[in-house]
Amino acid sequence: YRSFGLDRTNSMGINLANDDQLRSLAEQVNAAVRGDWRAAPLVPGAQVAGPAIAVTNPADRRETVGQWQAADAATVELALRNAVAAHDAWNLTPAASRAAILEHAADLLEQRMPQYLALCAKEAGKTIPDGVAEVREAVDFLRYYAGQARKLFAPEPLPGPTGESNTLQLSGRGVFVCISPWNFPLAIFLGQVSAALAAGNSVIAKPAEQTNLIGYYAVKLLHEAGVPEAVLQFLPGDGATVGAALTRDPRVAGVAFTGSTDTARAINRALAARDNAPIAVLIAETGGQNALIADSSALPEQLVKDAIASAFTSAGQRCSAARVLFVQEDIADKVIGMLAGAMAELAVGDPGLLSTDVGPVIDDDALKMLQEHAARMDREARKIAEVALGGAAAHGSFFAPRAYEIRSLEQLHKEVFGPVLHVIRWKADRLDEVIEAINATGYGLTLGIHSRIDATIEKIAARIKVGNCYVNRNQIGAVVGVQPFGGQNLSGTGPKAGGPHYLPRFATEKTITVNT
Ligand code: GLU
Repeated sequence: YRSFGLDRTNSMGINLANDDQLRSLAEQVNAAVRGDWRAAPLVPGAQVAGPAIAVTNPADRRETVGQWQAADAATVELALRNAVAAHDAWNLTPAASRAAILEHAADLLEQRMPQYLALCAKEAGKTIPDGVAEVREAVDFLRYYAGQARKLFAPEPLPGPTGESNTLQLSGRGVFVCISPWNFPLAIFLGQVSAALAAGNSVIAKPAEQTNLIGYYAVKLLHEAGVPEAVLQFLPGDGATVGAALTRDPRVAGVAFTGSTDTARAINRALAARDNAPIAVLIAETGGQNALIADSSALPEQLVKDAIASAFTSAGQRCSAARVLFVQEDIADKVIGMLAGAMAELAVGDPGLLSTDVGPVIDDDALKMLQEHAARMDREARKIAEVALGGAAAHGSFFAPRAYEIRSLEQLHKEVFGPVLHVIRWKADRLDEVIEAINATGYGLTLGIHSRIDATIEKIAARIKVGNCYVNRNQIGAVVGVQPFGGQNLSGTGPKAGGPHYLPRFATEKTITVNT
């Protein structure tokens, strides 16, 4: 357990295999549910006057769980001014002190897991196991970047000629904007924010509109741990008002973004169009069209189990999720039959129930996109399975997990962000074409391989252009410090989250040469 390369371990979470622990956790989560959660801009000096917007539970839209208020243009401007003013003092605070604050926040988050699980369930529709993974990942990010900051921000003496001392010193870039997604509203939100803070930046955090409450309580936690309020500000609002105003502002030194490839492009254009502004850094983690390649040596039971986990965990709403299973023809009928059988066992419903495997999708827009895709697939593909939706699904944004057999990747026009798995058969002598077709999508996030033939595994792993390649296991749930996560090409700029090269991208470097 020295996965951080430091002396910290990953968060242990709780043992979900222990029924008593799990039941007790579920009770604590239910007790933590409130109907009056709220989120509003956290910007010192701001007057919040915007109307309150209700937040409803994706699993039952009749239930209001809280409300939020958006930032207006004046609040965005004030936040930028505060962030500029606060930067120097934070940047000059020793990295070890910044790290200690983040580590304190990690401890608080671990202690308050039930409260954050309740928020994850009620605002984002996360099942309890998904929520636990989310909190653990958030804790890991806080500790990992804190540890990295201690290590990397200590001035490093360099070799040099006699009579000269040379030192390399990292420091914050300035104002960093963090724009995070709803699918990991706590882990990715805090991952971006903690890296930016650890490196000595002042931070403006803009959460996804679907998960403002989780972002708000995450920022409150960091303030409580000791991050000054002007150093970390929270700006909920729509992308057009808040996101666009931030990314076109010349005071912004960098942006960390996780979301769609199209939005990353728009941010890149906005940053590039700023006249007389420094060239900003953009760290973008975007979509995928993730494949799983299985040859005839794969173990069918393991393959099906891992395909189900990869495609349907978190209702398929992970960038890493498997979307296309390429199965070698010799075992295809058997695997497809087993897949349909295993899918029939999936329970879709209330994420608060321990029996639920698949919760709702995030909102009705997501539901509509998935229904449209399914309608096209019903016409153009062969349906392998569609999971039955129970009565519990009547009032929420539920989409029945499905699997379709398709002929080629060309039938998928874009990423389908939800619980839909597509299956394509391939012939034994056509592996090169499979690899080529996957690379030709332009995306490169995750790839799964199921094979017992070393030469095949090595060949695929060497040629495939992805960021995370998983062999004979599922392809989701990258662990901080263990499986640095992030893609290439259309899937993102790198560096990888939870990896050793992430933090330095948030920093600027200074070489100090002294004639002694
Ligand atoms: N890191 C997550 C995983 O490995 C996915 C992150 C995302 O969906 O953006 O499953």
